[in-house]
Amino acid sequence: MKPIPYGRQHITAEDIQAVVQTLQSDFLTQGPKVAEFEKAFAEYIGADYAVAVANGTAALHLCALALGVTAGTWVITTPITFVASANCIKYAGGEIYFADIDPETALLDIQKVNALIQSKPRGYFSGIIPVDFAGYPINLEAFRNLADAHGLWLLEDACHAPGGYFVDTAGKKQMCGNSQFADLAIFSFHPVKHIATGEGGMITTNCRDLHEKLLLLRTHGITKDPEQLDQNPGGWYYEMQELGYNYRMPDMLTALGISQLKRADAGLQRRQQIAGKYDAAFAIRPEIKILNPAVNKSRVEENAIFHAYHLYVILVHDRKGLYDFLRAHQIFAQVHYIPVHTMPFYQSLGFKIGNFPEAEEYYAHCLSLPMFPGLQDEEQDFVIRKVLEFIGR
Ligand SMILES: *Cc1c(COP(=O)(O)O)cnc(C)c1O
Repeated sequence: MKPIPYGRQHITAEDIQAVVQTLQSDFLTQGPKVAEFEKAFAEYIGADYAVAVANGTAALHLCALALGVTAGTWVITTPITFVASANCIKYAGGEIYFADIDPETALLDIQKVNALIQSKPRGYFSGIIPVDFAGYPINLEAFRNLADAHGLWLLEDACHAPGGYFVDTAGKKQMCGNSQFADLAIFSFHPVKHIATGEGGMITTNCRDLHEKLLLLRTHGITKDPEQLDQNPGGWYYEMQELGYNYRMPDMLTALGISQLKRADAGLQRRQQIAGKYDAAFAIRPEIKILNPAVNKSRVEENAIFHAYHLYVILVHDRKGLYDFLRAHQIFAQVHYIPVHTMPFYQSLGFKIGNFPEAEEYYAHCLSLPMFPGLQDEEQDFVIRKVLEFIGR
């Protein structure tokens, strides 16, 4: 049996053709495929605007800048996420604080966020970065209400959840990253994510001003738009109006993104199918806790939650034992995530082990099993067999 990773990209002959065609065209960097990908992605997610950028981390950085994060800006996020969700605030000179997770979902616990906000003077915090961890949609309607009560902005890290949705109190389906409740949302096209372009990212928003700001910041803060120029002495002229970056996504990668996006729904269906099979095998074993199982969950049965399943996470008593056992059988399960506040960098800022006990308890037991559309049935059967074999020892 070949090694089985926890996640893997899926590249077809059509994907390759799309990239080759762009390589043969006149455009290597900013060609027509960028706007085409942005338009298709915005439509898929149901947002007004989408801005393609170099990667998910660049997306977060630009969002922090567009939201005005600067020295003295305090922002709240979850410790159970990839470090970039927190780092983006530090890049912009701001300060990050964490609120603990809800152990049931491993998502940012809104009660804890509320308590944290209440513990400080009004105006202390400026924003919240909720994460659709593992692909399970966080209830952004509730976060919007909380944010509005305190004048905060919301930046949704939807890297794990393109295609996921929850149903709001008005009965409307709200796609992750549609910016209905959040001011901005971001995605990544890293190879383990749903849509893979190698490097790549996207920002979605419904706010015209933020959209314009992001376009400027993505390309050095430079504009050539005659309507935005202070003066216009000739055709060569451009102005650098803000300190921006080169965070552009090249045409050949957006061409790959367009091709991948066409298979996004098929990929989601396959992920659901894989999750259903894991759920059925593990739900009957009391030694295994499934994170956000589809079975026996009324919200899921009512179609009120659609889990995008970037990750399939189980929690077991002897996580290290299971991790090592699976590895010995060429199954490369992973741990998502080491709590961000325990990273040496964040400890150097004053965070300590013990600060967020639910996140630390989750981390002690979690394991992400192979979950990607190209996972073969025999491979999944093998994974299930090995997990049960370890648990039954
Ligand atoms: C992948 C990921 C990112 C960063 O994306 P890159 O494209 O790798 O920079 C940020 N946040 C989360 C939750 C992610 O999973």
